[in-house]
Amino acid sequence: MAYVVTEACIKCKYMDCVEVCPVDCFYEGENMVVINPNECIDCGVCEPECPAEAILPDTEGGLEKWLELNATYSNQWPNITVKGPTPADADEHKGEEGKFDKYFSAEPGSDGQ
Ligand code: SF4
Ligand code: SF4
Repeated sequence: MAYVVTEACIKCKYMDCVEVCPVDCFYEGENMVVINPNECIDCGVCEPECPAEAILPDTEGGLEKWLELNATYSNQWPNITVKGPTPADADEHKGEEGKFDKYFSAEPGSDGQ
Protein backbone atom coordinates (compact mmCIF):
# COMPACT_ATOMS: atom_id res chain seq x y z
CA MET A 1 0.00 0.00 0.00
CA ALA A 2 1.01 3.58 -0.59
CA TYR A 3 -0.32 7.08 -0.89
CA VAL A 4 -0.69 8.60 -4.36
CA VAL A 5 -0.53 12.17 -5.63
CA THR A 6 -3.38 12.90 -8.05
CA GLU A 7 -4.52 15.48 -10.59
CA ALA A 8 -5.36 18.20 -8.03
CA CYS A 9 -1.63 18.72 -7.46
CA ILE A 10 -0.96 19.81 -11.05
CA LYS A 11 -0.20 23.53 -11.20
CA CYS A 12 -0.81 23.83 -7.44
CA LYS A 13 2.30 22.36 -5.97
CA TYR A 14 1.97 24.07 -2.59
CA MET A 15 4.49 21.54 -1.29
CA ASP A 16 3.21 21.45 2.28
CA CYS A 17 3.42 17.68 1.91
CA VAL A 18 7.11 17.21 1.20
CA GLU A 19 8.43 18.45 4.52
CA VAL A 20 6.35 16.11 6.69
CA CYS A 21 7.24 12.80 5.00
CA PRO A 22 9.37 10.75 7.42
CA VAL A 23 11.00 8.77 4.61
CA ASP A 24 11.46 11.64 2.10
CA CYS A 25 9.72 9.85 -0.74
CA PHE A 26 8.41 12.86 -2.71
CA TYR A 27 9.81 13.63 -6.18
CA GLU A 28 9.40 16.85 -8.06
CA GLY A 29 8.23 17.45 -11.60
CA GLU A 30 7.90 20.78 -13.35
CA ASN A 31 4.34 21.37 -12.14
CA MET A 32 3.46 18.59 -9.68
CA VAL A 33 5.04 16.20 -7.21
CA VAL A 34 4.72 12.40 -6.96
CA ILE A 35 5.27 9.78 -4.25
CA ASN A 36 7.50 6.76 -4.79
CA PRO A 37 5.09 3.90 -3.94
CA ASN A 38 7.96 1.57 -3.08
CA GLU A 39 9.37 3.97 -0.50
CA CYS A 40 6.10 5.23 1.02
CA ILE A 41 5.47 3.57 4.40
CA ASP A 42 1.78 4.40 4.29
CA CYS A 43 1.88 6.54 7.42
CA GLY A 44 -0.71 8.98 6.08
CA VAL A 45 0.96 12.06 7.59
CA CYS A 46 1.06 13.90 4.25
CA GLU A 47 -2.59 13.48 3.33
CA PRO A 48 -4.09 16.16 5.63
CA GLU A 49 -1.21 18.55 4.89
CA CYS A 50 -2.24 18.99 1.26
CA PRO A 51 -4.57 22.00 0.86
CA ALA A 52 -5.59 20.75 -2.60
CA GLU A 53 -6.62 17.31 -1.29
CA ALA A 54 -4.44 15.80 -3.99
CA ILE A 55 -3.03 12.95 -1.87
CA LEU A 56 -5.13 9.80 -1.61
CA PRO A 57 -4.51 6.25 -0.32
CA ASP A 58 -4.19 3.72 -3.13
CA THR A 59 -6.96 1.70 -1.52
CA GLU A 60 -9.42 4.15 -3.07
CA GLY A 61 -10.75 2.90 -6.38
CA GLY A 62 -9.95 4.33 -9.79
CA LEU A 63 -6.43 5.49 -9.05
CA GLU A 64 -4.58 3.10 -11.38
CA LYS A 65 -3.52 5.85 -13.78
CA TRP A 66 -2.14 7.94 -10.93
CA LEU A 67 -0.42 5.02 -9.23
CA GLU A 68 1.39 4.28 -12.48
CA LEU A 69 2.30 7.94 -12.98
CA ASN A 70 3.67 8.21 -9.42
CA ALA A 71 5.71 5.02 -9.89
CA THR A 72 7.07 6.10 -13.27
CA TYR A 73 8.06 9.66 -12.50
CA SER A 74 9.39 9.06 -9.00
CA ASN A 75 12.15 7.15 -10.80
CA GLN A 76 12.88 10.04 -13.17
CA TRP A 77 12.38 13.24 -11.16
CA PRO A 78 14.62 14.60 -8.37
CA ASN A 79 13.86 13.98 -4.71
CA ILE A 80 12.37 16.96 -2.85
CA THR A 81 12.31 17.37 0.93
CA VAL A 82 12.11 21.14 1.36
CA LYS A 83 9.17 23.29 0.38
CA GLY A 84 9.89 25.57 -2.56
CA PRO A 85 8.04 28.75 -3.61
CA THR A 86 4.33 28.29 -4.37
CA PRO A 87 3.58 29.26 -7.99
CA ALA A 88 1.90 32.68 -8.16
CA ASP A 89 -1.09 31.25 -10.05
CA ALA A 90 -1.61 28.20 -7.80
CA ASP A 91 -4.93 29.35 -6.37
CA GLU A 92 -6.34 30.07 -9.84
CA HIS A 93 -5.96 26.41 -10.75
CA LYS A 94 -7.26 24.97 -7.46
CA GLY A 95 -10.22 22.71 -8.12
CA GLU A 96 -9.92 23.03 -11.90
CA GLU A 97 -10.84 19.90 -13.86
CA GLY A 98 -8.95 18.26 -16.71
CA LYS A 99 -5.59 19.57 -15.56
CA PHE A 100 -3.69 16.48 -16.67
CA ASP A 101 -4.66 16.95 -20.32
CA LYS A 102 -4.11 20.69 -20.20
CA TYR A 103 -0.94 21.06 -18.21
CA PHE A 104 0.87 17.86 -17.24
CA SER A 105 4.61 18.13 -17.85
CA ALA A 106 7.01 15.18 -17.79
CA GLU A 107 9.92 17.56 -17.23
CA PRO A 108 11.71 17.36 -13.88
CA GLY A 109 11.34 20.14 -11.32
CA SER A 110 14.14 22.20 -9.86
CA ASP A 111 12.87 23.91 -6.68
CA GLY A 112 14.33 21.23 -4.43
CA GLN A 113 17.84 21.53 -5.85
S1 SF4 B 1 0.68 19.81 -0.85
FE1 SF4 B 1 -0.69 18.79 -2.30
S2 SF4 B 1 -0.82 20.15 -4.08
FE2 SF4 B 1 0.96 20.68 -2.88
S3 SF4 B 1 2.69 19.61 -3.75
FE3 SF4 B 1 1.89 18.38 -2.08
S4 SF4 B 1 0.42 17.01 -3.07
FE4 SF4 B 1 0.81 18.66 -4.48
S1 SF4 C 1 2.03 8.41 3.51
FE1 SF4 C 1 3.81 8.87 4.84
S2 SF4 C 1 5.52 7.83 3.88
FE2 SF4 C 1 3.90 7.95 2.34
S3 SF4 C 1 4.34 9.81 1.19
FE3 SF4 C 1 2.90 10.36 2.83
S4 SF4 C 1 4.19 11.06 4.53
FE4 SF4 C 1 5.52 9.93 3.08
